[in-house]
Amino acid sequence: MTSPGADPVRLAVAVEAPLHSGLHGPLDYLSERPLSPGALVRVPLGRRDVPGVVWTTAPGDDEGHALKAVTEVVDALPPLSARWCDLVKFTSTYYQRGLGEVAMAVLPPELRKLDNAGLASRIAKLRKAYDKPVPAAPAPVRPELTSDQADALAKLAEVNLPGAAPVVLLHGLTGSGKTEVYLRAAEAALAAGRQVLVLVPEINLTPQLEARFAERFGGGDTPRRIVSLHSGLTPAQRLKNWLAAHLGLADLVLGTRLAVFAPLPRLGLIVVDEEHDPSFKQQEGARYSARDLAVYRGKLEGSCVLLGSATPSLESWQRAEQGRYLRLTLANRVGGGVLPKVRLADMNLLPKVRGATTALAPALVAALAKRLERGEQSLVFLNRRGYAPVLHCTDCGWKSGCPHCSAWRVFHKGDRTLRCHHCGFTQPVPRACPDCGNLDIAPLGQGTEKLEEQLAAALPGARVARIDADTTKHKGALEASLSAVHAGEVDILVGTQMVTKGHDFRRITLVAAVNPDSALFSSDFRAPERLFSLLMQAAGRAGRDAAQADRSEMWVQTWHPTHPVYTALRQHDFKAFAASQLKEREIAGLPPYVHLALMRAEARTPEAARDFLQAAADLAAELPGANELLLYPPVPTTIARVAGVERMQMLVEASSRPQLQRVLSPWMAALPSLRATHKGVLRWALDVDPLAI
Ligand code: ADP
Ligand code: ZN
Ligand code: ZN
Repeated sequence: MTSPGADPVRLAVAVEAPLHSGLHGPLDYLSERPLSPGALVRVPLGRRDVPGVVWTTAPGDDEGHALKAVTEVVDALPPLSARWCDLVKFTSTYYQRGLGEVAMAVLPPELRKLDNAGLASRIAKLRKAYDKPVPAAPAPVRPELTSDQADALAKLAEVNLPGAAPVVLLHGLTGSGKTEVYLRAAEAALAAGRQVLVLVPEINLTPQLEARFAERFGGGDTPRRIVSLHSGLTPAQRLKNWLAAHLGLADLVLGTRLAVFAPLPRLGLIVVDEEHDPSFKQQEGARYSARDLAVYRGKLEGSCVLLGSATPSLESWQRAEQGRYLRLTLANRVGGGVLPKVRLADMNLLPKVRGATTALAPALVAALAKRLERGEQSLVFLNRRGYAPVLHCTDCGWKSGCPHCSAWRVFHKGDRTLRCHHCGFTQPVPRACPDCGNLDIAPLGQGTEKLEEQLAAALPGARVARIDADTTKHKGALEASLSAVHAGEVDILVGTQMVTKGHDFRRITLVAAVNPDSALFSSDFRAPERLFSLLMQAAGRAGRDAAQADRSEMWVQTWHPTHPVYTALRQHDFKAFAASQLKEREIAGLPPYVHLALMRAEARTPEAARDFLQAAADLAAELPGANELLLYPPVPTTIARVAGVERMQMLVEASSRPQLQRVLSPWMAALPSLRATHKGVLRWALDVDPLAI
């Protein structure tokens, strides 16, 4: 496309190169005119035309290589900012993925498809829509701040000086008024003409929070524009909202982890709500932590970052303890509501019926009955869907294993199927034991379906409803169930942890965890932290209405009532819990005291996966800086086989991030060379700062 006489410009363009191709950096192209870094272009790659982002430009092309020319310049789109490019670059380097891969993965899919003319017309339409005045809504009524909130905001204002970009950890129980603090901090940023980014862990929580932000900022004299960004949007909506952010039309962007990459030319504040939540970590492709990237982005943009949680991650907590983050505490619930009383039902003390302990402690059943009498609601949760996690034969010991995975298939009573929750393999329940023909095959353990049945049997007349991934598969089902709960049509709500997050149930005065112990002895070192957080969050569901708070209870059925997790829960004492966990982590040499990366490999046989990881370890050992690392032997993952594929992993440990990073990049670059000698390996992937090991 270079016309004779014009001075061609050499460009490095970030494009999505095939995985394991070894092409990790930007590729060189020619353009007949100068382009800014951050400009969107289409370039030839192989036999295709692919979208790319101009990364750097250099004058001329003296060497006269046979560089290919840019096919199209999508200049309807203003270039992405240098700060945005820095964020993408950091993500690519830190999480060890291709630059173009990251850049393309975080742009809306629709943007990659449109040509310049198509995009220009979308943008014109969008600008026109934003030109229309908002229908006037009344100015919002702001509540008077509690003294906790006022203190927190005053301290925030002290540190949030221009250029300071502080990271603030807002620690406050559910219902302590954190959201109000976000709203006020956002108000200040908006008043200063800045944009605000709010990250939430779950799509389901966005409408609720969006409504609260819209109520506060959508009306009055200077109504603000709010958009959301998450994977639940249609491609067209996602592009529209992304453009509104990038063009500076939207003032507030609310979204899930991918929104951390929203281009925001006037960004002034980043809020990460429920900052401890595991869903901020992307689990495929570039396995980034949106929480960590938010902190990095705050530094890049000179913006304040506000991390909020009732149970902060131990990483953030430690940084606050070290004074690297400013900790602000909201110690009380708004309106003086007290936290529910925590009652532990000691399962060891229960009588056995036919050799088995009853599933529901009589004291819990009595407490539920009391709620029924008073017309109050209860929430009972169990983190396992289906009827029973496994079927077994009492004669020969057969169990309902999955033929494709190293996991049991779950018994679903509703449709009488055995279903593997890992690969989806589903079959009707056999009439008799497939091994010995015995007709007496029985469910072992308890899932939400069974719990629903047990509650209905123990409390005749109670209106029991269940919310889990099975009952909410269809669009609208979750909303319908939730509104039934809000309308008071449900006495007892049964569910997985799905029901414990965020929902503001007003009439619930009892929350019960019927079988949370398994997390105490999990091989996952973060399991106790998660359990504590889950139980605290669940407890927060009860007694949100101050009038009922004094008779609110959180029940925990446990075989280990003296476990420190439960002791801390009884006191609602996160500080004590965090201190004991951090001590344990320090002694055991676990994060945040060490830094980890996990290399996973998948193959048809465990040997092939292991051999590959062993060879990878040998490669790593040759690299400069390898002596600072600890490479553990390859081991099978927790569920070693899924859908017929064997999975092994190898842990890499270092005492500092730079030590780890120094080796990871050359290591990742060297790995494709193993393909020729390790044909059995299907895939490998590196997870930097893995959540579970
Ligand atoms: P959190 O985000 O910590 O769970 P919220 O900000 O949602 O807490 O506050 C809990 C409840 O208290 C909400 O219904 C909220 O509207 C109300 N609230 C928050 N701050 C105040 C205040 N200063 N005065 C009156 N009500 C408030
Ligand atoms: Zn049998
Ligand atoms: Zn399976």
